[in-house]
Amino acid sequence: MEHILNIHNLSKDYGHIRALNRLSLDIPKGSVFGLLGPNGSGKTTTLAILLGILKQSEGDFSWFGGAFDFKAKQRVGAILETPNFYPYLSAYKNLEVVAQVKELTKPKYDEVLELVKLRDRAKSKFKTYSLGMKQRLAIASALLCEPEVLILDEPTNGLDPEGIAEIRQMIKDIAARGITVLIASHLLVEVEKVCTHVAVIKKGNLLYSGPVEGLTKDSGFIELSSDDRNGLKKVLQTLPEVSKVEEIGNLLRVSGSAMLNATSLNRQLAQKGVYLNHLEQKKTSLEDHFLELTKAS
Ligand code: ATP
Repeated sequence: MEHILNIHNLSKDYGHIRALNRLSLDIPKGSVFGLLGPNGSGKTTTLAILLGILKQSEGDFSWFGGAFDFKAKQRVGAILETPNFYPYLSAYKNLEVVAQVKELTKPKYDEVLELVKLRDRAKSKFKTYSLGMKQRLAIASALLCEPEVLILDEPTNGLDPEGIAEIRQMIKDIAARGITVLIASHLLVEVEKVCTHVAVIKKGNLLYSGPVEGLTKDSGFIELSSDDRNGLKKVLQTLPEVSKVEEIGNLLRVSGSAMLNATSLNRQLAQKGVYLNHLEQKKTSLEDHFLELTKAS
């Protein structure tokens, strides 16, 4: 798999605060990669380092297999904050200003405005735009230099459900053009709905990285109960594949290694004289899993 970005042991200290701790990640080309973590987990710090705005304390990273030099910078479009557009100018005029500042030779205004679904409002003044439209214009301005990678920090912050849905669709459309998208977000649902890959970080530490489905793979729990509750608990404690037993109402919720499964559990319990009156294998939802990942460390 080709990677557009390799991050190796990246750390950042703000005085005595370690905001990022030896982060290593590879971002596959063509992926929609979510950097997911609760507030203060180090997402913005990571993006700022990757964009050369902040200097890391330790570690390194390489874009497109090399340094983040002038050429590499031109291949990356980023929005860490909404840019300052001119309120009395139209979207079109504002993009013309951006193109002049960036000295772009052949800016494709119509194409990017189409991509962010602002073409029919291109002549309206920026000040008449909704927050979602302003956000989409910001993305259009980052797309003007035809980047191979687009970086977005919390792209749906403050938007209503309709605005959120529009941004999500737009990210999918952008990805469909082969542009790699890197999104920082504290919202699992945002990442779950649009990302192909995810890295979960908390307090600067990487908890998981890989395909979105991998977050739930081999994970789950089994709910069971028996008339002989104490006997059931005792036997469960002796099984090596069981790592956790929680009491949820009348049920026991059992989780453990990938070896744990309902059939084998049932058989082993029966062999030890414990008979079940309820047995159900459940998958952990991504949300549960994210909460579990971020809570546990
Ligand atoms: P949020 O979602 O709230 O933006 P985040 O995941 O982007 O959070 P960062 O903003 O990167 O996290 O912050 C990571 C840690 O570094 C936090 O503890 C934060 O308080 C701290 N931090 C960030 N910037 C600075 C700074 N300039 N000086 C000191 N500490 C900072």
